[in-house]
Amino acid sequence: MHEAVLARSSRTDTITIYEWISRLAHPKSFMGKLFLICFFGTHVPLIGFSIFIVFATEITLAEIWPQMLVLLLATIAAFATTLFLVHHLLAPVRLVSGAMETYVKTRALPKLPLHHADDMGLMMRNVQSALEELDFAIRTTDAKANVDFLTGLGNKRWLNTRGAFAFDLARRRNEKLSVIVFDIDHFKTLNDTYGHASGDIVLKDVGEFVREHVRPQDIVGRIGGEEFCILAVGCDRLEAAAIAERIRSAFFDHGFQLPGLAHVTASFGVAEMKPEATTLDDVIAAADNALYEAKEAGRDRVMCAA
Ligand code: GH3
Ligand code: MG
Ligand code: MG
Repeated sequence: MHEAVLARSSRTDTITIYEWISRLAHPKSFMGKLFLICFFGTHVPLIGFSIFIVFATEITLAEIWPQMLVLLLATIAAFATTLFLVHHLLAPVRLVSGAMETYVKTRALPKLPLHHADDMGLMMRNVQSALEELDFAIRTTDAKANVDFLTGLGNKRWLNTRGAFAFDLARRRNEKLSVIVFDIDHFKTLNDTYGHASGDIVLKDVGEFVREHVRPQDIVGRIGGEEFCILAVGCDRLEAAAIAERIRSAFFDHGFQLPGLAHVTASFGVAEMKPEATTLDDVIAAADNALYEAKEAGRDRVMCAA
């Protein structure tokens, strides 16, 4: 945190005078309050001088009206200038208020000026650093909540939101979209034979493998223990099945980094977005059924939903 921010964070300024002024029935707006105060401040000499002339001297106002007129014009000019400058001196308050409002609405970080040494500069630095820290916290929390810690792929929660977006986009643009789900075969046996930690190493490796074997536009997530999901953007079920078959045979050949562990296999289910599918979950459910059929039919194969 900025040193100046720390140094002054224990200040106990109150807003008592502001509250007194706010209790007045009028004016209600902040600009009105400024107007009142600037008017009061700049007209006191004129009013005092006029009272003095009228009550404490022999001079009548009629005798010195030219001088009084000059004094009045000078007072009005000073009032207008004071009001203008005070209003602009308070511009950082409006800037900061607008920056916070924009951040809340759009998550866009402001670029407030940070080089002014006075209280307004301190406020702008405080707000800038508070928003940046808040933004960092939100981003890292969001990222953690959406990433599967083991494989670095998106998790089920991420797939729900990212996938729903892809689904809606494909619907709106009348484009094709298919879902491939795959599940590692006999993973429990692998765990039981080599230990859970070794199972984790395989899962990590599978994560890297999938990333390397999908197209850049595809969306991949780990949606269960040893179950993964690929949204094949722009593909119908036959194109997606071809992608799944390519991954299945590469998976078979890969060898998965455990001694004696050649030919870890996986089973695949494929389904395309049908006109009657109302959500991505409908398509995933169809792909899951096809995956179940692939398991039933003997594993290490790709099955397509009708
Ligand atoms: P199938 O061919 O029918 O898919 O058999 P399977 O053994 O792969 O499936 P099953 O559902 O019986 O077992 C899945 C196993 O995956 C059981 C569970 O302990 C293991 N598993 C789930 N998540 C993790 C994980 O994060 N790490 C490890 N090492 N194992 C996991
Ligand atoms: Mg399995
Ligand atoms: Mg499973």
